[in-house]
Amino acid sequence: MSQTATALPARDEIQSEYKWQIEDIYASEQLWRADFAKVKSAIPTVANYKGTLAQSPATLAACLQLRDEINILAGKLFAYARLQRDENSANAKYQALVGKTESLLAETGAAAAFIKPEILAMPAAVLATYRQDQALAEYSFYFDNLIRQKQHILSPGEEEILARSVEITQAAETAFNMLAHADMTFPEIKGEDGKILTLSEGRYRALIMSADRRVRKDAFTGLFGAYHAFRNTFAATLSGCVKKNIFYARTRKYNTTLESSLADDNIAVGVYDNLLTTVNNNLAPLHRYIDLKKKALKLDKLHMYDLYTPLAPAVTFTVTYQEGQKLVQDSLAPLGPEYTGILQQGLTSGWIDVYENKGKQSGAYCWGVYGVHPFVLLNYNDRLEDVSTLAHEMGHAIHSYYSQATQPYATSQYTIFTAEVASTTNEILLNDFLLKTTKDPRKKLYLINQYLEMVRATVYRQTMFAEFEKLIYDQAENGETLTADLLEELWHALNVKYYGPAIVIDPEIDIEWARIPHFYANFYVYQYVTGFSAATTLAEQMLTKSDGAQERYLNFLKSGGSDYPLTILKNAGVDMFTPQPVELTLNKFANMLDELEKTITNS
Ligand SMILES: [Zn+2]
Repeated sequence: MSQTATALPARDEIQSEYKWQIEDIYASEQLWRADFAKVKSAIPTVANYKGTLAQSPATLAACLQLRDEINILAGKLFAYARLQRDENSANAKYQALVGKTESLLAETGAAAAFIKPEILAMPAAVLATYRQDQALAEYSFYFDNLIRQKQHILSPGEEEILARSVEITQAAETAFNMLAHADMTFPEIKGEDGKILTLSEGRYRALIMSADRRVRKDAFTGLFGAYHAFRNTFAATLSGCVKKNIFYARTRKYNTTLESSLADDNIAVGVYDNLLTTVNNNLAPLHRYIDLKKKALKLDKLHMYDLYTPLAPAVTFTVTYQEGQKLVQDSLAPLGPEYTGILQQGLTSGWIDVYENKGKQSGAYCWGVYGVHPFVLLNYNDRLEDVSTLAHEMGHAIHSYYSQATQPYATSQYTIFTAEVASTTNEILLNDFLLKTTKDPRKKLYLINQYLEMVRATVYRQTMFAEFEKLIYDQAENGETLTADLLEELWHALNVKYYGPAIVIDPEIDIEWARIPHFYANFYVYQYVTGFSAATTLAEQMLTKSDGAQERYLNFLKSGGSDYPLTILKNAGVDMFTPQPVELTLNKFANMLDELEKTITNS
C-alpha cells in the first residue's frame, strides 16, 4: 500500500522475472548496430525501384517485399531503443538511439513514398493481370484497399499543394491547445480539507467525485466558468478545425466530412447513423440510472455536479501481481484453452515489464514486435484497476501474437477499430468474473458502480459526443456559422435529451464542448462505442458458449489487418450494421441497474 510513500526502486533493484526481455529483440547492441547498417544500406536499393514498378509482376513483388523487410527490421530497431528508453527516461543513451532510429524511419519512409502513387498510376487492366501472379498473392488486400480510395487521390500537383497546406490548416488546433493547456488559468477553490487549492483539469477529475457536495459544486462552477470566459475563442478554434476538415473532404471529392473521416477504415456512414439511432432509442436505462443515483445519494434535486459521485464508498481491493495474474487467467477461461495457453506463455516468458521503477514511463501499453513477440509495459501497484489493465493489455498482446504468427507482414497490422475490441473483451470478461465471484456486498456494490459508470462514460457519453460532431458538421456544411451561442445551444439540448428529467442541466455545462480535445480528432470517438459494444457481444457469446464462438474469436485475432474491420468483426459474429451489439450492451446495463436496485434496498 505504501509503495508511493516509500522511494521508488531503481531499475536494477527489480527482480528480472518482473522485467521484459529486451534481449529477445537483440541479444546485444552490436547486433542492433548491424541491422541498423543493413537498413541504411537498403534505402538506395528501394529508391532505385522508382519508375520500374510497372515493368513486371516480379519487379513489383520484389519492391514490396524489400519494403516490408526494411519495415520489419526498422520495427525491431525502434522497439529496442524505445522500450529501453521507457524503462528509464533519464537514460540518455537510449534517448539518443530513439532519435537515431526516428531519423532512419523518416529516411526509409521518404525512400518508399513513391510506391503508392506509382501503383495507382498503373493502368487498371495491367495491375489486374499482375495481381494474378503468385508472387503478389499476399498483397491482394493491400491492392484492394489502395484502389478503393483512388478516386479521392488528386493529381500530383494538387497533392503537393494539399501536403504543403497542412502546416497552415493546423493553426486552429494549435491555438486550441495553447489556450486550453498553456494560457488558461483556473480559479482557486477550497478543497475537502478546507485548504485553498488552484483548480486544474487534472484536479477537477478527483474533485468532481468528492463526497462533499460543496467541493464538487465549487469545482464545477470554477472549471466551467474559466472556459466560459473564452467562449468565443473556443468557438473560433473549433469552427476553424471543422472548416479545415470540410475543406479537405470536399477537395478530395467526398460527399460529407463524415464520409471522408470513416473512409480510411472503409466504415460505412450507415454504421455511424445506426449507432446514434440505437442509442437514442435506448436512453431509458440511462434516465433510470440517473434517477437511481438521485435516490441513492438522497438528493431532492440532482445537478450536473452530482453526476460523477460514486454510489458506493470507495473500497480498497489489494491484489498482488500473483493474485492478479490468477484472476486474469480464471476470468479469460471462456476464451478456451488455446487462448489461455498463450496467455500463460505471455505471463511467464518475458513479455511484461510489471513494476514501477525510478524514471519508468507511466501508464501502460502493448507493443507488438513482428517476428519477436509482444511487449507489455505496466506500472502494477496492487490495485484492482491494475488487474483490469493487465487483462486489457494482454488482450492487445495476444491479438498481436496471433496476427503476427498468422499473417504475412503486409496484413499483420490491425486497425484501432478492431484493436480495442480484443482488449475490451478481456476487461468485460474480468468484470463479469469478479461480479460473479465477489460475495462482500460492499465490494459488489463498488463493482456494479464501476460497470455502470463505464457504460455511461463509454457508450452514452461518447455517443452524445458523436452526435454533437454530426450536428456541428451538418450545420457547417450547410453554411451555418458555428458561434459560441449555437454550440452552447446544441450541447445543452443534447444533455437534456441524454440525461433525462431526473437531473437539472445547469447552464454552466453548456460550455463543456470547449474542453473536449477529441473534437479536434474528427469523428473518432464513436469507435469507443462500437468497440465496447462489439466486445460486449463477443464476451456474451463466449459466456453463453454459443456455437463456434471460440473458434470465430480466435480467427478474429488471427485476421490482423487482412480485411476491413467491419468484415473481420462480422466474421467473428458481430454485425455493426445492426442495432444488436449496442442493444445487447444497453440491456446488460439495464440488468445491472436491477442488481443495483436490489443491492441498495438490501443494504
Ligand atoms: Zn487499449
